[in-house]
Amino acid sequence: MNHREQLDTVVAVLRDSLCADDLPGFYRLFRSTDLPFVPVTGERDPREVFRFCFEILHQLGGVSPAVALAVENHYYVTSAIATFPVDGATVLDERRRSLVNAIREGRLLVANTNSRVHGKQLGTVGTYAKRSVDGYTVNGTASFTSLASEGDLLVFITRIEDEGPAVFAIKPMQDNPSIEIGPYLFPSAMIDSDTRRISFHDLALTEDNLLIGPADPDADQLFAFEMAWHQLLIPALYLGAAAAALAEVRGFLRNTNGKDGRPLAELDGMVVDVGRLAIDYRSACRVVLQAGDRLADVQRLPADVELLSVASDEASTAKYVGTRCAEQVVSAARRIVGARAFAGGQVLERLSQEVMFGPLGPDVGAVIERRLGARALADRSFLDPWW
Ligand SMILES: Cc1cc2nc3c(=O)[nH]c(=O)nc-3n(C[C@H](O)[C@H](O)[C@H](O)COP(=O)(O)OP(=O)(O)OC[C@H]3O[C@@H](n4cnc5c(N)ncnc54)[C@H](O)[C@@H]3O)c2cc1C
Repeated sequence: MNHREQLDTVVAVLRDSLCADDLPGFYRLFRSTDLPFVPVTGERDPREVFRFCFEILHQLGGVSPAVALAVENHYYVTSAIATFPVDGATVLDERRRSLVNAIREGRLLVANTNSRVHGKQLGTVGTYAKRSVDGYTVNGTASFTSLASEGDLLVFITRIEDEGPAVFAIKPMQDNPSIEIGPYLFPSAMIDSDTRRISFHDLALTEDNLLIGPADPDADQLFAFEMAWHQLLIPALYLGAAAAALAEVRGFLRNTNGKDGRPLAELDGMVVDVGRLAIDYRSACRVVLQAGDRLADVQRLPADVELLSVASDEASTAKYVGTRCAEQVVSAARRIVGARAFAGGQVLERLSQEVMFGPLGPDVGAVIERRLGARALADRSFLDPWW
């Protein structure tokens, strides 16, 4: 089967698995296809990898934004590690390549956590690593890990005590006595993202588990590059939800007659309303796809560090625009279809409950507004070309 046929099968199985309450069955099928491992085969350039991930997540997001979000976490981490364009034979490049090989050869699904916890101080990190004689020992709790009970390999950020942030990779993730996979963080809406708290209990790691340490000169660039991938792929899945909502609107308006006996789709007001939604949806997709091209422009680091900064801003803008647009389109669709959208397990019910999570992460709206606002109020005039 080619990738298009595999994707059609995966989407159909996701629908069935949600009805049968059997997400493990969906993941078994997904793992057995080539789709999860396309970013790590090296057969496509970064632009093609991005377009490929966009399409998969857009399709899955139209069925279940929550499951698509879990899968997105696998895609953004693997894509960022596989396409990070570090220049020359550095230690990071060696570690990155060996991780990519392990993911490809082991057919591993990758979960991640930034180790954030909700405390009185924004940005609190709940885990830490201590240097030991032969490596590191990690303890603490992280609030968010999606794909938590399906991930084979966990990539996580923590702080090495008295040093700074580092990224480690560890497997096995499941049935590992030092990794406690805890309760759902979101026990109702978004439950299918499998986002759980996880705790580390004296998790022993060696230098082989380290992807990047605090002293590595490429650390900031890897963090920025990975975040840009994440900000770009998140709107892909929520825009998939918007597309599915528009498909529901289309079906409803074409198949339901007004009191005059004619389809609601023929009402001029409806045509205009749906046209407005379609324009918003298409423009937001375009913003995300163009921002993906900007990230693909980053071909050598550190030489392209300026391009990475441009790509990061574009990715933040795309995430902001794409997730807001998706939320607005789904809300408008719900108002058009009306109460029947909630009668008897309609897809709009699920989309409505899950699409609101789009603007909540990875960067929250306030952070993106601040960043872009500060840039807009700096030295450059609004009249100067910025594109
Ligand atoms: C469904 C879901 C799944 C997730 N899965 C994962 C995962 O697998 N791995 C992972 O590492 N993370 C995951 N995350 C977490 C995500 O990456 C972000 O860390 C998280 O969404 C940030 O949201 P928060 O509410 O915790 O942010 P907080 O930083 O706690 O912000 C809370 C609120 O404070 C305000 N605020 C914050 N910063 C500012 C600012 N600079 N200026 C003004 N106001 C501000 C905003 O109103 C914001 O909404 C997931 C999140 C969600 C929603």
